Amino acid sequence: RAPRPKARGLLLQDVFIAVKTTRAFHRSRLDLLLDTWVSRTKQQTFVFTDSWDRGLQERLGSHLVVTNCSAEHSHPALSCKTAAEFDAFLASRLRWFCHVDDDNYVNPRALLQLLKALPQGRDVYVGKPSLNRPIHTSEPRPHNRTRLVQFWFATGGAGFCINRKLALKMAPWASGPRFVDTSALIRLPDDCTVGYIVECKLGGRLQPSPLFHSHLETLQLLGAAQLLEQVTLSYGVFEGKLNVIRLPGPFSPEEDPSRFRSLHCLLYPDTPWCPQLAAR
Ligand code: UDP
Ligand code: MN
Repeated sequence: RAPRPKARGLLLQDVFIAVKTTRAFHRSRLDLLLDTWVSRTKQQTFVFTDSWDRGLQERLGSHLVVTNCSAEHSHPALSCKTAAEFDAFLASRLRWFCHVDDDNYVNPRALLQLLKALPQGRDVYVGKPSLNRPIHTSEPRPHNRTRLVQFWFATGGAGFCINRKLALKMAPWASGPRFVDTSALIRLPDDCTVGYIVECKLGGRLQPSPLFHSHLETLQLLGAAQLLEQVTLSYGVFEGKLNVIRLPGPFSPEEDPSRFRSLHCLLYPDTPWCPQLAAR
């Protein structure tokens, strides 16, 4: 037999990055992402929203996906967008699916480094465990019975990734209208539904990674050097207080409340709008 061609190493071009958003956040959140990390990952980033927007269309072209999902913060509406992300990934033939929210900063170099280190031949679901224990729920069974199930899941608001091998196995519960159905069945949000499909339907496991971050954790605890190595970061309000990463500059908190512009200038100092070091 002829030897199989050796699989080449993973490149950023092999990764599909889906960003979930809604019309209310196009100006307040998406524009910031397009100015920062998305400008470095244009070819593999797709934005899933619920309303057409001229400004976003001009900047994203075919990478803006206007779904038929409703613009509300309900489990079905959010699951509908996650389903659209998943289907677009399956159609893309790329090797990795990564989901993030519109309040996440993705560090493409750190993302690629993480994915490269994972076993390519196995099913992989990687992200930040949402809880420090598995979630328990009852799964409806035929004849009005239920079964108690437990599973780990990755916080959607911190981002997570799934390789194609696993995504293909998830399709019977996750492709087309089935993701929304599965989510309705267990009456849990979309990120829980992903964990349920992987762990309860397929016997897989969430691979925990501390490199994904949502605004549900205290982001100030990350040190300056650590910040540059994280796969995702976030910003938001937590327990009534602004929860952002701690960076001295180059922009002030007034100019850059999320701190994403300052982080971006540390990672990509050649960006035109970053303060250039005086050339002398
Ligand atoms: N989102 C959405 N529709 C809504 C509200 C929110 O698609 O009606 C998206 C939003 O763009 C973000 C994610 O859902 O990507 C989480 O929303 P948010 O950060 O506002 O809430 P959180 O769950 O983090 O408190
Ligand atoms: Mn959020």
